[in-house]
Amino acid sequence: MPLVYCWRTTAIRVKNPNEDALTMPEIQQHTRSAHLFDAAKLVLPGGVNSPVRAFGSVGGNPRFLQRAQGGYVYDVDGCSYVDLVCSWGAAIVGHAHPQVIEAVTKTATDGISFGACCALEGQLAKIIVDALPSVDMVRFVNSGTEATMSALRLARAVTGRDNILKFIGGYHGHVDALLVAAGSGATTFGSPDSAGVPKAFAESTLLAPYNDLQTVSQVLEQHGKNVAAIIVEPIAGNMGYVEPIEGFLPSLRKLCDKHGCLLIFDEVMTGFRTAWGGYQNLCGVRPDLTCLGKVIGGGMPVAAYAGSSDLMGRVSPLGPVYQAGTLSGNPVGMAAGIATLALCRESGFYASLEAKSKYLTEGLKKAAGQSGMAIQTAYTGGMVGLAFVDQPVRNYDDAKAGNHELFARFFHAMLNLGVWLPPSGYEAMFISAAHDNDAIEAILAAASKSFQKVSS
Ligand SMILES: *Cc1c(COP(=O)(O)O)cnc(C)c1O
Repeated sequence: MPLVYCWRTTAIRVKNPNEDALTMPEIQQHTRSAHLFDAAKLVLPGGVNSPVRAFGSVGGNPRFLQRAQGGYVYDVDGCSYVDLVCSWGAAIVGHAHPQVIEAVTKTATDGISFGACCALEGQLAKIIVDALPSVDMVRFVNSGTEATMSALRLARAVTGRDNILKFIGGYHGHVDALLVAAGSGATTFGSPDSAGVPKAFAESTLLAPYNDLQTVSQVLEQHGKNVAAIIVEPIAGNMGYVEPIEGFLPSLRKLCDKHGCLLIFDEVMTGFRTAWGGYQNLCGVRPDLTCLGKVIGGGMPVAAYAGSSDLMGRVSPLGPVYQAGTLSGNPVGMAAGIATLALCRESGFYASLEAKSKYLTEGLKKAAGQSGMAIQTAYTGGMVGLAFVDQPVRNYDDAKAGNHELFARFFHAMLNLGVWLPPSGYEAMFISAAHDNDAIEAILAAASKSFQKVSS
């Protein structure tokens, strides 16, 4: 069993990053996590229910979490960490926010799922419709994967075309046709094309590098007549953090219009995380269809696809595009989403989140510089990127050029200093409204030491 060390709960709550609280760890073996992982591996493939959690790309054993509160997570071995995963972005108001917990528990008391209509579905949908000018109607599903899968079906039905265009390194969940050159877990595990995806499905997916308009344009000139939709993460968050270059998204809009394809924004990650509504409200480009997830469920399994009433009017029972869900729109998930978005709606919420991201990225840059390390870091709203590479990252090839072995060492150094980073260099990081100054200073103090450690 590998030795895993961590800092005790109190060690990370330092006010002064220069204080030596951080250098006096109580060294501890993560025996409970190790035992739980061994037991889990007997009954769960790889011991997990989502591959990245197994720490495959950073090595070592995953630590099992017991609870999460505000900007912190707590493991079963008594260690606490400042959390930069935030349930992959969903926990934007911080873990276990009292208002969200109250809404969830109150609602659950009256029944967890009806399999019938409830008032909360319309309430959450109305919040989303009001937040996104491109959206008149919303269909709730249970995961981002379902959202993108259903949006593709709708796009194919509307256009009568079979092919779609996605970007290399873009991750849209584990939909068959979208597990082609997908980033994130698929990248990390070195099998971008999953086994079990029929060749014919993969062939219906055309590819272009992210931020490469010339290739998109060429592909559409050649195959446009058969392309139902372009699906794109408006900020790519599953090949690290990659912003669209100036003009990229507006040009995709124009190319879609020219070739009669739909433009699908997969805002499962960026929706209500980069800005109120989503990144489309910042870039001013209106997609035909929008996929949402993560934040809109505030940590419950809630996702959605959405668009104009004309397009959404083709969805069953109004139209011929069939899609359904036993637990879709269940009251507890809806209540969590409504309570979360009510907090996000408060004035100054995103400005404050962005100020934290700015402070964090500037601090990371400075700390890396002091150790003579080249990193790229950037942010939008509460979404933050960090890559060990000296050139700006514009596409998947750039992301792959990063030093992922160095990231793995940095990851473990940070973990041992009480900071919970995404366990892969191909992921974005997330902060929440609950990350206070102490939390961010603790991250920066740990980063300073970790950069030093991995650079020497
Ligand atoms: C997380 C994510 C998905 C998949 O959502 P799941 O709920 O994990 O199925 C799809 N697209 C993007 C951009 C994501 O970040």
